Amino acid sequence: MTTGGSGIAHGFPHLDTVRAALTALFRRLSHDTVSAFPTSVLPVDVAFDNTEDVHLGAQRIARAMVRQLHLPDARIVITFREMEHAATVELTAGPEYFVELNDRFRRHRKDIGAALAHEVTHVWLHRLDLSFPGTRDNEILTDTAAAYLGAGWLLLDAYREHGPFSQKLGYLTPEEFGYVLAKRADFFDEDPAPWFTSPQAYDAYTAGRARARQDARRPPLAGAGWTARLRYAKDRRAAQDPHRTAGPGAGYAFEPAAGPGAPLRVSFPCPTCWQRIRVPVRGHLQARCGLCKTLLDCDT
Ligand SMILES: [Zn+2]
Ligand SMILES: [Zn+2]
Repeated sequence: MTTGGSGIAHGFPHLDTVRAALTALFRRLSHDTVSAFPTSVLPVDVAFDNTEDVHLGAQRIARAMVRQLHLPDARIVITFREMEHAATVELTAGPEYFVELNDRFRRHRKDIGAALAHEVTHVWLHRLDLSFPGTRDNEILTDTAAAYLGAGWLLLDAYREHGPFSQKLGYLTPEEFGYVLAKRADFFDEDPAPWFTSPQAYDAYTAGRARARQDARRPPLAGAGWTARLRYAKDRRAAQDPHRTAGPGAGYAFEPAAGPGAPLRVSFPCPTCWQRIRVPVRGHLQARCGLCKTLLDCDT
């Protein structure tokens, strides 16, 4: 796990990979298994004051992460050492996994939960044999899984910017963590907002939430805004006209009718899991995403 000090990236540069990670999670786990993560790690589970032994406390928090990710037989063995990275984990056959934490966490115990959320999620993905090719994409998958399954709000809360004391853990930008947390909040009907202790983390959450809400306002979803709908209607007319070729729409694509009399179809990404959904073009209808089971109001 890396730690970003000066020059923390912002915005949504990794959004495509984040969305691919959400789709991969639902595909690998199924809707029912994802649904078995309805509650996040709570602040009380990861509270760590200076009266507690640093090793025992770190082990206790690691057990909270192991419980959160439903890895009952995994044992996390933690050591501290001076190193460049924030933390690393050795991915072995288990059931024992060795995590090294940067020595500075001895003085910044508050962030041990964040570091362990990321490292234990590596173990969870390793056990599932789910990975993305390349370090960058695999780290984004790890942060996305941690945040979506209820351990990763701590990663966002560890973000703060105060000149030389700036810190950010993980690969996602603060706003991207906010985006995934907002997706989680929608799916599980759980509000993480009261848990943030870092005001900058809270701001990043609201920015990510605004971006997440835009996903539900893209045509042919019924919640789309006026200008997007006008553009959609124009693209649909072009798709219905055999003499014109429709350009690529904003996320949606019209597909020619399968045969004479068959309706034109439109495909678009599910705003929850980003799996593509395909529906006939015939006005107002409800579609259920086959992957995450979200019911979507569409105006095709
Ligand atoms: Zn990592
Ligand atoms: Zn879906």
